[in-house]
Amino acid sequence: MQHKDVIIIGAGAAGLFCAATAGQRGKEVLVLDHAKKVGRKILMSGGGRCNFTNMYTSHENFICNNPHFVKSALSQYTQWDFIDLVNRHNIAYHEKTLGQLFCDDSAKQIVKLLMDECAAVSAQVKTNCEILTVTKSSTGYHLKTSQGEYTCTSLVIATGGLSMPKLGATPFGYQIAEQFGIPVTPTRAALVPFTLHEHDKVLLAELSGVSVQASAECNNTIFNEGILFTHRGMSGPAVLQISSYWQAGQRVAINLLPQHDMLAYLHQAQTEQPNTLLSTVLSEFYAKRMVQTLLTYFKIENKPLKQYQGKQLDNVAQQFHAWDLQPNGTEGYRTAEVTLGGADTDYFSSKTMEAKAHPGLFFIGEVLDVTGWLGGYNFQWAWSSGYVAGMSV
Ligand code: FAD
Repeated sequence: MQHKDVIIIGAGAAGLFCAATAGQRGKEVLVLDHAKKVGRKILMSGGGRCNFTNMYTSHENFICNNPHFVKSALSQYTQWDFIDLVNRHNIAYHEKTLGQLFCDDSAKQIVKLLMDECAAVSAQVKTNCEILTVTKSSTGYHLKTSQGEYTCTSLVIATGGLSMPKLGATPFGYQIAEQFGIPVTPTRAALVPFTLHEHDKVLLAELSGVSVQASAECNNTIFNEGILFTHRGMSGPAVLQISSYWQAGQRVAINLLPQHDMLAYLHQAQTEQPNTLLSTVLSEFYAKRMVQTLLTYFKIENKPLKQYQGKQLDNVAQQFHAWDLQPNGTEGYRTAEVTLGGADTDYFSSKTMEAKAHPGLFFIGEVLDVTGWLGGYNFQWAWSSGYVAGMSV
């Protein structure tokens, strides 16, 4: 049986970063992961370029039962600290939009950064290692694994959420939480595309692959970032973002023209070009295919503008500005980027991520009930929470 100062379960973003941080403090660190490869989600992230942080990260970009929980970690290790590290590793990056920083080249560079940081402090990483049992022992924690037995003074759970089981996601972290009497808040897929009811799916099938600038609003939260029609339903940044706030059965208000006042535009067009078809005027804003499909979908008759009477143009504008959509559901964990809910943050110190009732037991990253918006926030949470735990183990 070997003893380590620190054992971290999960060689993803949070686990590897925590390992490097603890190693820098002279701790003997072992990271265990059941997967064949480390950092698989990082490799898949940001379309292979990893949106590794967001320049505008603040506590407001996170969903958590306790909205203050993330503040301390985010201020102890900020986005600027991680950007500094990326610079030190000579990784070229760019801002894509809204403060989102992506590698110019490949997400592999971020995994390499993490592995280089671990190697520099001799933090050991073992893959293909199943964790069989975890128990408390007189010196800390005792692990039985497929690669032998270990004890450690500090144990860090960094096994992430449930999204993308194909990439190695398991409920392991939640099971350990429950084993130690830490409640797990209800989990569900988030940052995930919507599926549509059959009727909507059939009518909108033509639009598969079309994207449009639009906003999506639900439960008093609105994102104005664009949507994408897919063959299953709807995706794109605004839809992914709002999926984290949406509950089954609820409706979503989609504004298909958030930057303009369509009614004013239609009234002006009616005066200036009364013989022009509505579809021609709408083609100023959308692709032709989209105009035809949406007019049919919204049951709007296409005729010369002068033929619209009374409130008919108001109705047209209303349909496009406030499309009242009821999604059928989401694509679920299979394609979700993250998991909403997780180990209840009330049971952890926000300064260190240590379990209040279990000295030496830490939870970091997505396994906690902390979910970031789309845009690099989830990785920043992995770095910040990994760092503070790494400084306290
Ligand atoms: P993970 O990175 O998921 O790591 C968990 C590790 O634990 C894995 O290596 C896993 O194999 C291991 N593990 C799980 N169960 C066990 C077990 N039973 N025994 C041993 N090991 C186990 N976020 C962003 O900020 N920017 C992006 O661009 C971005 N893109 C994404 C794209 C995709 C396709 C996905 C799925 C997610 C994306 N995310 C992105 C979210 C981000 O990847 C996660 O929030 C982040 O990886 C969480 O880090 P973590 O270390 O907590 O968990």
